[in-house]
Amino acid sequence: MKSMRTFLNESTIQYENSDEMLVSRIPILLWIQMVYVATMILQNVKELLILPDIFFTMTYVLHALLHWNSFRLTRSRSWLYFLIQGLLILTCALLLPEGSPAVLIGLLPILIGQSVGLYYHKRKITFVFLFCVFIFCYAQLYLGKMPDLLLLIPLFLLMLIIVIAYALLFFEQVHARLRTQNFLKDLEKAHRKVEELTLANERQRMARDLHDTLAQGVAAFVMQLDAADEFISQGNIRRSQEIIQQSMSQARSLLADARRAIDNLRMKSSSDLDFRESLTDEIQRFFQATGINVYPKIQMVSQMSRMLMEHSLYIVSESLTNVAKHAKADKVWVTVTERNNRIEIEVKDNGTGFDTSQIGKQAGHYGLLGLYERVRLIGGQLQITSTSRGTRIIIEASIHKGDKL
Ligand code: ADP
Ligand code: CA
Repeated sequence: MKSMRTFLNESTIQYENSDEMLVSRIPILLWIQMVYVATMILQNVKELLILPDIFFTMTYVLHALLHWNSFRLTRSRSWLYFLIQGLLILTCALLLPEGSPAVLIGLLPILIGQSVGLYYHKRKITFVFLFCVFIFCYAQLYLGKMPDLLLLIPLFLLMLIIVIAYALLFFEQVHARLRTQNFLKDLEKAHRKVEELTLANERQRMARDLHDTLAQGVAAFVMQLDAADEFISQGNIRRSQEIIQQSMSQARSLLADARRAIDNLRMKSSSDLDFRESLTDEIQRFFQATGINVYPKIQMVSQMSRMLMEHSLYIVSESLTNVAKHAKADKVWVTVTERNNRIEIEVKDNGTGFDTSQIGKQAGHYGLLGLYERVRLIGGQLQITSTSRGTRIIIEASIHKGDKL
C-alpha cells in the first residue's frame, strides 16, 4: 500500500498524451469484448432475448466507444464520464438479467481501475468505488438476484483487486517514465541556462579585456603627451622626443592588443566550431597581432564535446594573451595531444616567467584563476610551472566526459 500512497500523492503529471496510455486501451478493449461474448452466452443459453440483445449491444458499443475516448472525455468533468459509464453498465445488466453477472463483474472493476489512473485523490476513487458497488447491488436487487450476491461479491472483489493491482503497476510505470522525461527536460533547460551564462561571462570578459587595453593604454598616452608637452615648453626637445618615441612603440603594442581583443569578439559562434580550425585561427591571429613566433603541433582526431572545445579554446587564448602581455617572450609552443581518450594541451613560452605562488593573490588579475575554474568545469587538471626561462601551462582532460552537454 505504500506504493499506492506515494503514487496517489503525486498529482502534477498529466497522462493524457502519453503513448503508453493510448496503447493501454487495446487490451482493455479486448477484455470488454470478451465480457460481451460471455454475457451474450450466459443470457442466450438460458433464454433468447432478441430485442434486449439488440439494445444491449447498442448500449454496450456506446460504453466501449466512451471507454476508447475516455482520455479525451475525462479531461474536464470526469465525474460525468464515470456517471454515464456506470449507468450504461447498469442498463446493460438490466437488459440481460442472466448475463448481468458477467457485465457487472467484468466492467465495474475496470471503471474503478480507470479512476485510479485518473484521480490522485483517494476520496474521488472511493466515490467511484462506492458508486460501482451501488450499481452492483442495485442491479442484483432489481433483478431479484439477492441470493446470488453472496457468491458474486467475492468474485467482484477478486476482479477488483486484480484490476487495481494492474492499474497501479501500470500507472506507476508510466508515471516513472514521464517523470524521467520531465527530469530530462529540466536538465536540458538547466544546460541551456549554463550555456547562456557562460556566453554572457565570455562577453563580459572580452569587454573587460577591451576596456583594460584601450582605457589604460590611452590614459598612459595622455600622461606621456602631457609630459612631452611640458618638456617642449621648457625647450628640452631631446627629452620630449624620447618620450614621443616611447609612446609610439607603446601605441603599436596597444594597437596589437586592441586588435586581438576585437578578434576575440569576432570569434566564430560556438555551434559550428571545429577545434583544429579554431585553434589554428587563434594562433594565426596571435602571431599577426604580436609578431611572436608560434610553433603549433596539433594531434587530435577524436570529436570533442562542445563544452570541452569551448573551454579548451578559451584556455589557449587566455594563455597566449598572457604571453603577449606579460612574458616578453619571442617564442611560444602550442601542443595538443590525444592519448588514451584524454586530451593534453600545452602552451609554453620562453619569456621571463613569474612567481606562480602569487596566482589568485593579486587583486584585479583573474585570468589564471579563470583557467582553473574552466578546467574544473571540464573535469580536468591544470598545471602551471614558471621559471626565469619561461612559463608552461598544461591542461589535461577526458575527451568524452560530458559528451551529452
Ligand atoms: P592578468 O593577465 O589580468 O594580469 P592573469 O591572472 O592572467 O591576470 O595573470 C596573473 C599574473 O601572472 C600576470 O599579471 C603576470 O604577472 C603573470 N603571468 C601570467 N602569465 C604569464 C606568462 N606567460 N609569463 C609571465 N608572466 C605571466
Ligand atoms: Ca590574463
